[in-house]
Amino acid sequence: VYLKTVEATGFKSFADKTTVMFDEGVTAIIGPNGSGKSNITDAIKWVLGEQSAKSLRGGKMEDIIFSGAKDRNATNYAEVTLTIDNHERNLSIDADIVAITRKLYRSGDSEYLVNKQKVRLKDITELFLDSGLGRDAFSIISQGKVDQVLNAKPIERRQLIEEAAGVLKYKKRKVETEHKLEDTMNNLNRVHDIIFDLK
Ligand code: ATP
Repeated sequence: VYLKTVEATGFKSFADKTTVMFDEGVTAIIGPNGSGKSNITDAIKWVLGEQSAKSLRGGKMEDIIFSGAKDRNATNYAEVTLTIDNHERNLSIDADIVAITRKLYRSGDSEYLVNKQKVRLKDITELFLDSGLGRDAFSIISQGKVDQVLNAKPIERRQLIEEAAGVLKYKKRKVETEHKLEDTMNNLNRVHDIIFDLK
């Protein structure tokens, strides 16, 4: 999965539409402290479905919306779009370019789009599971994460390997199916009770 561009509007320090292009050969982004380097990785994580404001270095989710500067009013919403090269069909969408958008308004309304079609958060999570670019994948290693990996318990380390090996998707589906089975068993039991009462 090859990330081509990140386009942010009203996200953190990016008040106006800002496009970062990851042309082949880009290996680093440099800049003074506080200039917004980490805000770019925050933007990527956010689009991939990050739900924790803390992971995005904020107190509440609204903190990611541009909060104004000396000569600028705060914006009403934040919008970030990632464009991904999908020529190799690593993402199971039949398109060469996949654009993923997340939008959040101050009112709390939010939406996710894949190639301009509204989708659920679940669709985004599933799309990226095992692709190597998921929210919890290790394509984004922030400061502190290295320690976390080194100090991980064996069971946590196993999860890293499973994500890399691409089996996490199936484990997740298994748990979902088990829940459905359990619900169905409960429903069946209820039906049995009703039948028993009717006899
Ligand atoms: P460092 O090297 O110190 O980690 P950095 O280049 O990674 O710096 P970031 O942490 O990405 O910088 O950017 C922080 C800047 O973003 C700060 O100046 C902060 O005021 C600004 N910022 C964060 N959230 C918002 C927001 N909601 N509205 C406006 N500016 C914001």
